[in-house]
Amino acid sequence: MDSKKTSNVFTPLTGGVFHFNCHRDIPCFNKCCAKLRLILTPYDIVRMRKRLDISSGEFLEQYTETLLREHPRFPMVKLKMLDDEGQRCPFVTAEGCSIYEDRPGACRLYPIGRASTLVQGEQDTKEQYFVIRENHCEGFKEEKVWTLEEWVSHEGLGSYMEMNDRWLAILNSPKSLGPKEYLAKKHQMFFMASYDIDRFRKFVFESRFFSLFEITPEKKQELVSNDEALLIFAFEWLKFSLFGEKTLTPIS
Ligand code: SF4
Ligand code: SF4
Repeated sequence: MDSKKTSNVFTPLTGGVFHFNCHRDIPCFNKCCAKLRLILTPYDIVRMRKRLDISSGEFLEQYTETLLREHPRFPMVKLKMLDDEGQRCPFVTAEGCSIYEDRPGACRLYPIGRASTLVQGEQDTKEQYFVIRENHCEGFKEEKVWTLEEWVSHEGLGSYMEMNDRWLAILNSPKSLGPKEYLAKKHQMFFMASYDIDRFRKFVFESRFFSLFEITPEKKQELVSNDEALLIFAFEWLKFSLFGEKTLTPIS
């Protein structure tokens, strides 16, 4: 998450600890929830649309904008700020974040930034953490000290990091997307499988999909209603359909 009209200072997380606290009585309370360029991940969307009790299609339509130049190969999705003078986040209220338990990973991680990259030839991602000091944020003046592990646990970031890393493996894959004539179709597939989980579920259940791939009845059952399981399956499908990886087994 970054705020456009403030100068941010990124410093390495040296010593593994940082001073910070954010609470309702702090003078800057809620100031950070405006004018954001907040890129959403597939897991953010799954959590937020469930919280709002709307379909992924409705969520995308109402709350997001698609960015085509943000990533060199794939469309990204950003949370739309309100179209008023303050350009506030649509979920901020006088009491704080109205979707707090399901707020995006970037909101949870702040004031920490995480650069996570795939190293060619290695299975796991390499991580680097840094502190983002925004001028308006008074949280750094507080005495509370956190270790990175404490912060990750306090903010409930475990599942976000795990799911986001699975997706990152696709975003950062060095594998070719193949001939140009298939690119538009591959972009559409990437968008649906990454961001529009309800449409992806329809695609899987209302096409010949299950007659083409070996999927156990237990797995099918799980995919009917479990968004997280379906999202992991969507990532495996993307690796298969975009890059030709052997993540699914075709029925011969
Ligand atoms: S989602 Fe919640 S925490 Fe994130 S910017 Fe909006 S109001 Fe703030
Ligand atoms: S302390 Fe920082 S993160 Fe918390 S409300 Fe203030 S500006 Fe936002």
